[in-house]
Amino acid sequence: MSGYRGRFAPSPTGPLHAGSLVAALASWLDARAHGGAWLVRIEDVDTPRCVPGAGEEILRQLAACFLLPDEIPQWQSARAPLYQSALDRLVQAGRAYPCACSRKDIELALRAQGRERTRHGELVYPGTCRAGLGGKEPRAWRFRVPDGTVAWTDRRVGVHLQDVAQEVGDFVLKRADGLFAYQLAVVVDDAEQGITHVVRGADLVDNTPRQLLLQQALGCPQPSYLHAPLVLGPNAEKLSKQNGAAPLDLREPRAAVAAAASVLGIALPAEGTLPDALAEAVRSWGRRWP
Ligand code: GLU
Repeated sequence: MSGYRGRFAPSPTGPLHAGSLVAALASWLDARAHGGAWLVRIEDVDTPRCVPGAGEEILRQLAACFLLPDEIPQWQSARAPLYQSALDRLVQAGRAYPCACSRKDIELALRAQGRERTRHGELVYPGTCRAGLGGKEPRAWRFRVPDGTVAWTDRRVGVHLQDVAQEVGDFVLKRADGLFAYQLAVVVDDAEQGITHVVRGADLVDNTPRQLLLQQALGCPQPSYLHAPLVLGPNAEKLSKQNGAAPLDLREPRAAVAAAASVLGIALPAEGTLPDALAEAVRSWGRRWP
């Protein structure tokens, strides 16, 4: 095996559907085309959003599609001590700080600054608690985002720039409900699992600069990124359970895999077994994304 280590990291908020299978297949194809290892990590860190049994169901659906992980799947809910120790390191290094602001406090502070700014419905944090809590009780922990533009190059979509300080602000690492945020968990896990290549859906492009900043602050290596195309739902938004995506039909894994492959620009051979067709798809992928 090469030194390549890739992963598929679904959140178990429901079973796989046509959209999430595209991300699974893209990451599997890329790992196989590079002679690498393919891991599955169930990202059940946001427990209130998780559906009981969905993680197991996702693993069964992947197996029905012959997408089999090379290592035992990890579950984020069992890894909180790793996230806490990363947060402790950031706090000690002055890169993370406690925050006492409620959503209302943030809205009021933004209004006072004449910046009623939101990004995708999320408030841009105005930095209120950067200089201290002023005697208030801490609720959450935030990352101290450095000024400047983060630049990175995606294997498929090319150069990306984001001024995280201006466009996102100091983002949450540990939430007021005590749960760790996706941004911290994903960076810690990718580093701890030795992931060299991240292949995932293009809906996550916007999160990548935050993850690069965290990698730098924690001294973690930066994986390479490829953000795969999305399947769009009827309203031209990313297909999701919320906009009516049906769970994959396990009686027809081949049809599901063929549909996912076609989103990735690969025509699955109509003849032969599904594993043979997948092997052919690996060769096509390898020619396209060397
Ligand atoms: N768990 C995230 C999601 O399902 C994906 C994380 C990732 O691939 O980085 O949206």
